[in-house]
Amino acid sequence: LNPDLQQFKTMLKDQGVKYAIASFVDIHGMCKAKMVPLSHFDQMMQGSELFTGAALDGVPQEVSDEEVATMPDLASATILPWNSEMVWLASDLYLRGQPFEACCRSILKSVLQQAAEMGFQFNLGIETEFFILKDQDGQAVPISDRDTLAKPCYDLQGLLDNYAWVDEIVQAMNHLGWDVYSFDHEDGNGQFETDFTYTDALTMSDRLIFFRLMVKEIARKHGYFATFMPKPFANRTGSGAHYNMSLADLKTGENLFVDRADPRRCGLSKLGYQFIAGVLRHAPAICAVIAPTVNSYKRLIARGSMSGFTWAPVYICYGNNNRTNMLRIPLAGGRVECRAADISCNPYLGAAMILAAGLEGIREGLDPGEPHTENMYTYTTAELAEMGIKMLPRTLGEAIEAFAADPLSESVMGSLMYQTYVDFKTQEWFEYHNHVSDWEVQRYMKFF
Ligand code: GLU
Ligand code: MG
Ligand code: MG
Repeated sequence: LNPDLQQFKTMLKDQGVKYAIASFVDIHGMCKAKMVPLSHFDQMMQGSELFTGAALDGVPQEVSDEEVATMPDLASATILPWNSEMVWLASDLYLRGQPFEACCRSILKSVLQQAAEMGFQFNLGIETEFFILKDQDGQAVPISDRDTLAKPCYDLQGLLDNYAWVDEIVQAMNHLGWDVYSFDHEDGNGQFETDFTYTDALTMSDRLIFFRLMVKEIARKHGYFATFMPKPFANRTGSGAHYNMSLADLKTGENLFVDRADPRRCGLSKLGYQFIAGVLRHAPAICAVIAPTVNSYKRLIARGSMSGFTWAPVYICYGNNNRTNMLRIPLAGGRVECRAADISCNPYLGAAMILAAGLEGIREGLDPGEPHTENMYTYTTAELAEMGIKMLPRTLGEAIEAFAADPLSESVMGSLMYQTYVDFKTQEWFEYHNHVSDWEVQRYMKFF
């Protein structure tokens, strides 16, 4: 065991840690793991934990295949804030001693490597929106009597009534050094958001995975449940996971997206605009990954919440500090916010796709044209067509078709994950599409 690891293990023992968790994610970004007593920590760190890929969604293996192994990343080690007897480690998957080509985390790492070869570090901040609800005889019911407000956004009493569990989550995040800078009641009843400081994209992706696990566990402790479903209620806003992105100089750490003298007056550099143009070019394929479920597309609509708007994007365009665009350049400039991403996304795959598209924009020196400063929701389809603006995919079916057809997808994911993703999501779409819903029966059965 190397000295760092030895020291780390001693520290874990001193802190009363009993078990280590070798964790990785399936295609959905859900944690899969084995729990290993600390006495076997050394072997675990060398890849002793084996998993049958065929038992999992999107770990493409046959039942007869050799198992994949987890290679935990020490830098991601996190003692569970709600139970300090366990330490969690994000891992890469290996097969026969080699990195496994369909490992989500490794897929992101390889695009990060391409960025590094161009001299960039990809920085990412993900805004986390989610609902906290109560299960009452199988029904998801509100947890507070403030949950009837038509405009609950930023409601202070709604936040204070929930102080006990919100504070526990925020304290846990800060204890882990994530630097929460604000949290609030969001625009949907029972919807909350915690925002914390950006970091390199791999660390941020590990954090999002851990965050969802942690929020679920802490909510449970308080008798509630958390959902990261993108659009749990037709009449409330959905849960986004806005990706706030910038490229920094790998050597100096300087943010290369900043330009105070930007002639387009968004505070963004030429490099930033090129990145935007690349992302817009591949937006439909990216959407299949950052908005990965059937339900994701019920969020990407302009109206349909009781507060009036949804704040979710509908068109493939970019703009200034304006929430109706897919890509927004927030007021201070120096970063690009992708608003299409939702909180059910697999952050490794999402960041990999969006970064690869942005890098392509840079390599080809693309220009996205002028920013849209107006309310994009007000245009008619004909007007948008005239402006050359296309819609984001309207269903998972459309998105996955675009993903399958875009050469970027396979070049980012590798052929094994590419094919798995297409097959898996096509199947998910057809399962939904072939289902006859209550809505249809009520609308048509007696009518026709
Ligand atoms: N909840 C909105 C969404 O679905 C975003 C609201 C906001 O701008 O924070 O993306
Ligand atoms: Mg928000
Ligand atoms: Mg945002």
